Order: sequence, then structure tokens, then C-alpha cells
Amino acid sequence: MTSPLPAFAAIVVAAGSGSRAGGAKQWRRLGGKPVVRWSVEALLEAGAGDLVVVIAPGSEVELGAALAGLSGWRSAPGGATRADSVRNGLEALGGPDARPVLIHDAARPLLGVDVIRRLLEALPGVDGVLPALPVADSLRRATDGLVSGSVERDSLWRAQTPQAFRYRTIVDAYAAWPVDKVAADEAAVVERAGGDVLIVEGDPRLMKLTFPEDFAMAEALIPRRTRVGQGFDAHRWGPGSSVWLCGVEIAHDQTLIGHSDADAGLHALTDALLGAMGDGDIGDHFPPTDPQWKGVSSDRFLAHAVERLRARGGRLVNVDVTLICERPRVKPHRQAMRERLADLLSLPLDAVSVKATTTEAMGFTGRGEGLAAQAVATIDLPA
Ligand code: MG
Repeated sequence: MTSPLPAFAAIVVAAGSGSRAGGAKQWRRLGGKPVVRWSVEALLEAGAGDLVVVIAPGSEVELGAALAGLSGWRSAPGGATRADSVRNGLEALGGPDARPVLIHDAARPLLGVDVIRRLLEALPGVDGVLPALPVADSLRRATDGLVSGSVERDSLWRAQTPQAFRYRTIVDAYAAWPVDKVAADEAAVVERAGGDVLIVEGDPRLMKLTFPEDFAMAEALIPRRTRVGQGFDAHRWGPGSSVWLCGVEIAHDQTLIGHSDADAGLHALTDALLGAMGDGDIGDHFPPTDPQWKGVSSDRFLAHAVERLRARGGRLVNVDVTLICERPRVKPHRQAMRERLADLLSLPLDAVSVKATTTEAMGFTGRGEGLAAQAVATIDLPA
């Protein structure tokens, strides 16, 4: 069993404009959550006793929305430079002098408790601790693309955040830092003031979101779990001239009776998606007693379930639908149904299956009283 973490406070710097990442990245969603929320949740879960998020003045509403439902944090206004922002955060935080403070960039969202533990456990012997990774690639010096020499990498490290200091150490170091000088990070400020800064093992997942393409890389690093859901639906045959199945209208001498367009394939699939998310069933989201759903196209229901999935940072992996009826013949329409579902779900065609079977004249489908549909959906969700 691991021992409890020492008491600590934290500052999350989220005041940047993120021009290189194509906009204020701290508010962008990653794995279904705003970027800044990842760090704040990680620090709160690790037991941060006080947490200040430094934001650009005027961003309070965005921060409140990004951290909705979380408690134990407050905000402070950022300054003209990163150093000013951290100073403001330290002022808002206050002492006690000996309390460890972790100072973290919101742009490094995938913060794990292991790094926090290594920082806090190393701090008592030194003035500051920073997580860093060794440089694996060989390094070259080049001018205009032409190599002009090698750089010895053995003593080089890639510094990350959070970085840990005792409150008084970092406050005093910043007080001694020249106003017009740009600080690479807090460790540089403490080093300049004569402090000893120790390196502990960082984490590749703590990558900094700098360029737009970094978001795709970070998404791929988020742990996910696979979920499966299934759905079933049946509707009764009645007088009509066409039937909707899996989003495709088929000419037929009967139609399916229902409150909406009675597309049992889409209804079963919607339930499969909701089931995979543990998010109720189609009747919870679209009550059949509600007149606004009368006669509507069932792709609305499926789109709603997909939207719920996206909002949670989930991804659809594949779907498989089985239609059970004696008539109409489904096979001539299967390809059109797959293409329609692939379009509705933004899935490649080979991740969408539509199958059909009869029940050999047995049961309600066999007697031609109704049509049934079954569906399975596989999704993955951030763990
Ligand atoms: Mg139905």
C-alpha cells in the first residue's frame, strides 16, 4: 500500500492565449473534458489542499464552465507574462512558508498521481523538484537545414511541469528575478536565486499541447475502456405503402406503426448506443407521450445518442444490426442501409453491419404481425 501524500497546494497556469495551438487551448475539449479540467481534477484527486487557477482577466465564466461541479479551487487573474501570472497565483495562494506548492501548466493535461508523488517525496531534501525526461533522439545543431555539428545529449533533460517548491522559496526567488527577463520555468527562477533543483522521473503522457496536431496525439494517450451495448425493438405492421428501416425508405405494401417513423432498426441501434454508455433507453430521452416526436425521422434519435457519446469523449467502434422479418426482402437494400448508417455515425463502411433473417414463419414476425430488430454497438470511453 502506498503512503498518503504530504499536504500541498497547487497553482495551475491557464492564462495563455495559445496562439501556436490555434486558440486558447485550455478551454478546448480533450477526451470529452476541457483541457484545464484534466489538471485540476488530477491535483484535487491527489489531495491539493488549496488550488489557484490563474487565468486571463475576463475568462472567469469560461473557467467556471470548464470546472463545473468541482470544488476546492479558486481563480486569480494572470499578468502580462508567465512570471507575472505565477506571481499573482502565489499571492492569491498565500503561505504557510513551508508548504509545498506545485506549479503546473494547464497545457500539460495528462497529469498522473505518480509524478505528483515523486515531486512531493523528493522536495524535503532540496529547494525545488522538476519532472523531466531524458533525450532519446540524437541532437544536431543546424543552420538553414544544414547540419553544423552534434550536441552531447547525455546531460540534457526535457523539463516538464508540475514543479515543486516550498512556498517561501519560490516567492523569494521570484522577488529576486529581474522584471524584464523571461523565465523558462519556475525551476530556472529558483536556480538563479541559488537554489538546488532536483530532477525526478517525468511522464511522456505529460506532453505539452503546443501545436494543433498535439491534440490528436494527446487523445491517443488517454486510457480508454471498451463498452458494448445491445438494443431490441419491434413494431406492428399496418396499412401503408413504404417502410423506413435503418434510415432507408423501402417501397412495401405495408408500413410499420409507431409514434415516430417506426424505424425499428434505428431504434434498436439507438438503444444499443445508449446501453453501451449506461445512459438509459430511447424512451427516457424521447418519451412516446411527447407530441414533439410524433412522426419524426428516427435518425434524430440516433444523432442524439451519438452526440451524448461525443460529449463524453467517447468513440464509436462498430455497430451490427439484425432485422427480423419475412417481408420485405432486406438483402437488396442492405448496402444502402449500411451506407446510410455509416454516414449517420461517421463510421467507415466496414464498421457497419446490417443483417437480416426470418424466423421460418414462427412467432409474430413469422406470422407477419410485426418486424423486430436487434443491434449491438461497441464504443470506447475515456477511463
Ligand atoms: Mg421503436
